[in-house]
Amino acid sequence: TVRVRFAPSPTGFVHIGSLRTALYNFLFAKKSGGKYILRIEDTDQTRLVEGAVEGMLNAMDWAGIHHDEGPFQEGDNVVQRGEYGPYVQSERLPLYKQFAEELLDSGHAYPCFCSKERLDDLRETQKIEGKITRYDGLCRSIPLEEARQRIEKGESHVIRMKLPTDVDISFEDIVRGKVTVNTNDMDDQVLMKADGYPTYHMAVVIDDHAMGITHVIRGEEWLPSTPKHIYLYHAFGWKAPEHVHLPNILNPDKKKLSKRQGDVAVEDFQKKGYLPEALVNYIALLGWSPEGNEEKMSMDEMVEKFSLERVSKSGAVFDVQKLNWMNSLYIKEMPLEMLVDQCMPYFIEKGYVDPGCEHGRSFATEIVRISKDSMDYLAQCTDLVPLFRAKTVEPEDGETLEMMKQPHVVEMLGVFKDMVEAADQVDAAFSKQVFKEVQAATGIKGKALFMPIRAAISGQLHGPEMVDLMTILGKKRIISRVEDAIA
Ligand code: GLU
Repeated sequence: TVRVRFAPSPTGFVHIGSLRTALYNFLFAKKSGGKYILRIEDTDQTRLVEGAVEGMLNAMDWAGIHHDEGPFQEGDNVVQRGEYGPYVQSERLPLYKQFAEELLDSGHAYPCFCSKERLDDLRETQKIEGKITRYDGLCRSIPLEEARQRIEKGESHVIRMKLPTDVDISFEDIVRGKVTVNTNDMDDQVLMKADGYPTYHMAVVIDDHAMGITHVIRGEEWLPSTPKHIYLYHAFGWKAPEHVHLPNILNPDKKKLSKRQGDVAVEDFQKKGYLPEALVNYIALLGWSPEGNEEKMSMDEMVEKFSLERVSKSGAVFDVQKLNWMNSLYIKEMPLEMLVDQCMPYFIEKGYVDPGCEHGRSFATEIVRISKDSMDYLAQCTDLVPLFRAKTVEPEDGETLEMMKQPHVVEMLGVFKDMVEAADQVDAAFSKQVFKEVQAATGIKGKALFMPIRAAISGQLHGPEMVDLMTILGKKRIISRVEDAIA
């Protein structure tokens, strides 16, 4: 059965590219009736960030990408479940040590005692000579016995893979086809570091094998590492899993997606009020397309349609406009009360509504109702609030001012104001009726009637439907704004 894994390093926020890798692994596992495993790759102790594992678990939970094995958040604790644990690499150190010994014994690896200074000098010299920077193999010829004695005495060392010269290493990438690299173009990669931790390359191979991983699905940036991994599979005498490298996610300028050009953290999108279903749906299309041209899909539909054969080779541009469009589709179809529930935090955070206040909730509901069809993300739900809450409004531009200055306006606004004053309340029925009455009383109609009134009560010539504008503003505010306008 299919077993796939998502193997993040807990080094900070969750990148949108990681979300896609997780999603494709998840979709493939579910589609194949297999298992999706989460493994934490924390062997680079210098890059660990406190709380990153919890953040990762929360982000995945939010996105609805649920793993079958691995670490899980349980209350305030992180616990691990599954038969192949531990699923955190720093808890598997003895395993890596044992396999490093095996590689030494079989001659596929060697201890290297070169100091940092020597390696730095070597790199500098190679750079100056215009060569590829690479370890020169100095320690390859130290007899293992001798090396063992030096280790025994406590000499600092790493363990490197001992690549054969001039051997082609090949593997079949499900998306890219056959990839071949000659060992002459490869480096004797460090497998075990001086601190006793494995490098990524060592740990990933041992764990993928030990955890029974059948398919490695990961980003294109790992493609150059795969020949090293294949070498290790051969060295151990293990069958390598299938490999799929997902195309890079690019900025509109076709460079690799980076923080400098906007949001890249899942948490950023979450905060702005992208709905998880919409974000996941959009992300799914960055490098994969279903058959047919239906793009809006639920998680179940994506599982149903997913196939690695339809993953593309070429980079996928992250297009915020398209994400916004996708998100707006999901917002539009959400029942109003549910949408209001999700929008309340934004009203509260901005201080527009007090938590638990009935009146505040109904105000927010009105605002959300009239904003729903034009929102790209939930944080925009409060955009219209100032329009209704401001004590006074000024014409927002010259055109609006011109509209107000027409000779008929002051008298017409006076008539309108009197009618509003005479009303018990400004409800929808009144708001529809009052324009007919102003027209009957003044003979003014159409644009000449509506626009100056809109400008007077809102300061602008565009905006919500007139009936919504009037009923949400309410009698008192309409009167004071009209008075300001004709004063
Ligand atoms: N720990 C690696 C990362 O942070 C995983 C790469 C892989 O999937 O092999 O992306």
